Amino acid sequence: MARQIPLFKVFLPPEDALIPRLRDVLYSGQVSEGQPVYDFEKRFSNFVGLPNVLSFYSGTAALHTALLLAGVTPGDDVLSTAMTAEPTNMAIRHAGANVVWADVDPRNGNLTATSISEHMTPRVRAIMVVHYGGIPAPMADIQSIAEAWGVPVIEDAAHALGARYGNAPIGSNSDYTIFSLQAIKHMTTIDGGMLACKNPEHLFVGRKLRWFGIDRAAPRTEVDVDVVGYKYHMNNVNATIGLVQLDFIGPVVQRHIENGKFFDVALQSIPGIELCQWDPKAEPSYWFYTVLADDRDGLSRRLTEFGVANSTAHKRNDTHSVFAGSRRELPGLDRFYSRMLHIPCGWWVGDIDREQIANVIRHGW
Ligand SMILES: *Cc1c(COP(=O)(O)O)cnc(C)c1O
Repeated sequence: MARQIPLFKVFLPPEDALIPRLRDVLYSGQVSEGQPVYDFEKRFSNFVGLPNVLSFYSGTAALHTALLLAGVTPGDDVLSTAMTAEPTNMAIRHAGANVVWADVDPRNGNLTATSISEHMTPRVRAIMVVHYGGIPAPMADIQSIAEAWGVPVIEDAAHALGARYGNAPIGSNSDYTIFSLQAIKHMTTIDGGMLACKNPEHLFVGRKLRWFGIDRAAPRTEVDVDVVGYKYHMNNVNATIGLVQLDFIGPVVQRHIENGKFFDVALQSIPGIELCQWDPKAEPSYWFYTVLADDRDGLSRRLTEFGVANSTAHKRNDTHSVFAGSRRELPGLDRFYSRMLHIPCGWWVGDIDREQIANVIRHGW
């Protein structure tokens, strides 16, 4: 039996690096939001190359807060994609807004600028963009539509830590970009989320929104709460895990990218599969590697037989009853969804593993 190669794997720092720091913070008497959280925000900000970063207890909390900062109010429309994990669209509903689907590019599962412009109306208050699987969406074209309509773009970069667009870190152009630090993302703090804002003035309100509307810098008995806030902040324990992760995560993310680039070459011109294609300005960070196959189920069975985990990973969100009111024809999604298959390309995929994966696919099914 060939060795098993998982599709997802949790990366944690070595015990001797993590446990002493974790023990210190656990017994420090200060386990809620404090200095380790602020230190982590600063170091994460340097790591992703985006200046104004706030931490949250989850990516979903960061998304909800981004929508609130973007001025989305109940009854507004938010344009979004159904080809994503549920948190993207659930956060829109948390803000009380209606999800309006735009269609995706059958070559990569990302929203197309054409479909976004077809579905823009004066009711649309924000555009939510996902970089599916770590492949950056065509942000230049999307941004020009957003600017023409005067609405902000929120980038859900939960799959795209370390990706680049237009020779700059992902998130450099939009008003809001979120990252997820959930268990199986490129980097985890067990759970956590980060929000990068273009405008530093949004940080103050963002901090209030994440903690009951209270400005933590002001004396508690003098503060006036003027906004409905949430219990969304990150704590010192998760932040400490994040601080130690940052000592190790550079090469981890880099290995996703190297493996992805390996498959970009090794899987070319194989009968029965097509590789994703993307905007030339995009540099993916390959959370997983997506191939497109007419006989997707045959390929899937073959990979499973040879110990290579593979999956479609996400259910198209427009088929959930909770989003029934948003249904519309999405032919690009129909095509992508029926052909996509995700295969492992993360930090745990070694040189021998990736050769094995390529060989199984080359052999046919
Ligand atoms: C993981 C994920 C999120 C955020 O999830 P959390 O578990 O709340 O951190 C958001 N969007 C997408 C596409 C995701 O995969």
